[in-house]
Amino acid sequence: MPAHSDTMTAASILGEVTDFVRQHVITLEQEFLAHGYPGIAESLQALRGRAQQLGLWAPFLPIEHGGMGLALHHFAPISAALGYSPLGHYALNCQAPDAGNMELLCAHGSEQQKERFLLPLIRGETRSCFAMTEPEFAGSNPLHMATIATRDGDDYIINGHKWFTTGADQSAFTIVMAITGVDANPYERASLIIVPAGTPGYEHVRLIPVMGDEGAGPFSHSEVRFNDCRVPRTNRIEAEGAGFRLAQQRLGPGRIHHCMRWIGVCERAFDLMCRRAATRELSPGKTLASRQTIQNWIAESRAEIDAARLLTMDTSKKLDAQGARAARCQISQIKFHVAAVMQRVLDHAIQIHGAAGLCDDSLLSHWFRHERAARIYDGPDEVHKSVVARELLAHYST
Ligand SMILES: Cc1cc2nc3c(=O)[nH]c(=O)nc-3n(C[C@H](O)[C@H](O)[C@H](O)COP(=O)(O)OP(=O)(O)OC[C@H]3O[C@@H](n4cnc5c(N)ncnc54)[C@H](O)[C@@H]3O)c2cc1C
Repeated sequence: MPAHSDTMTAASILGEVTDFVRQHVITLEQEFLAHGYPGIAESLQALRGRAQQLGLWAPFLPIEHGGMGLALHHFAPISAALGYSPLGHYALNCQAPDAGNMELLCAHGSEQQKERFLLPLIRGETRSCFAMTEPEFAGSNPLHMATIATRDGDDYIINGHKWFTTGADQSAFTIVMAITGVDANPYERASLIIVPAGTPGYEHVRLIPVMGDEGAGPFSHSEVRFNDCRVPRTNRIEAEGAGFRLAQQRLGPGRIHHCMRWIGVCERAFDLMCRRAATRELSPGKTLASRQTIQNWIAESRAEIDAARLLTMDTSKKLDAQGARAARCQISQIKFHVAAVMQRVLDHAIQIHGAAGLCDDSLLSHWFRHERAARIYDGPDEVHKSVVARELLAHYST
């Protein structure tokens, strides 16, 4: 894979990525909507090869790790350009949860872990997943879980039950969050441990249907179990008890990636709604766009998308300049705000399309089903609002 030229500016990369999505990625969408991931897996793999040849690969990763070395605030608009299609992020190998796992392993993996798990992931030969949430415990509180990894000589024996493990279907390994120190303080009880696919005791229970679609491969969520699953202690990422800290670090940039992807969804929905409004005739010569309610939705959507983009860009710059801790409150703001903007924009776009907006031939229907989750994963709205309110109110208490 050719390293991308250092001299290439972020703006020209954005132009190239935008062209790539519009010319090549969008062409696979109808097949994807009709037949899901299995229907396009081969074509998508070929498209990934093309992206690699063009040097448009893993833009968020450092150059020395095979990426394009973009700062977060330079990657953010690229994430929006990729989000214009549901296939964009996968085409350039920056889809969740692999992107977060690559960042995690780049920063904290041992040399052996990098060689065995990270490099094939970066090259796009494998996929991975991240198993933290458990059906029996409130995922909003990541300290609260039952999966346990017990030491046995040079190994851990893992027992537990996880679900909504995105991309577990056919992934090469899972990074599992498990308790390694029952008596440690709550923030140091858990560790992150790599479990390779095929390890005895690692059970893929089922694909979880989400709003009528069980998906496949990178576009799916699974229930998994660890039944006396034995892995070497060298599969633990960083120190014992570092799991919670590492998982939190992983989420900071991940929320920028998601929010900008949602802005991309908004931009596509906006284009679709405007095109429909401008061309759908209610009577000869009278389009939907002539109606003030429709004009209001279009104007309000434009303002909401622009505001959401600016707030997210500002947050990405703060995160780059001052780190995740300083940007914590703003990260929480964008997480719930942009998710809500996306839902409103999609809803208006569907309403403007009438029945056609609900038909599964339409991206709008696809996104309305799959992006409802934005208000739940990576922290539900209510948790983020509480973080923001507490931080703001602290300035008013004496
Ligand atoms: C599409 C999708 C993909 C996912 N991918 C992954 C993955 O790859 N790996 C993984 O480990 N997990 C994943 N998850 C799980 C996700 O992280 C959890 O769903 C999330 O953390 C919420 O946990 P929960 O579902 O157990 O809800 P709960 O914690 O039971 O919360 C339920 C509801 O209670 C309310 N609530 C919670 N806390 C508060 C509070 N403090 N104040 C007020 N109200 C509150 C909220 O409305 C919340 O939606 C995914 C989920 C979805 C939907």
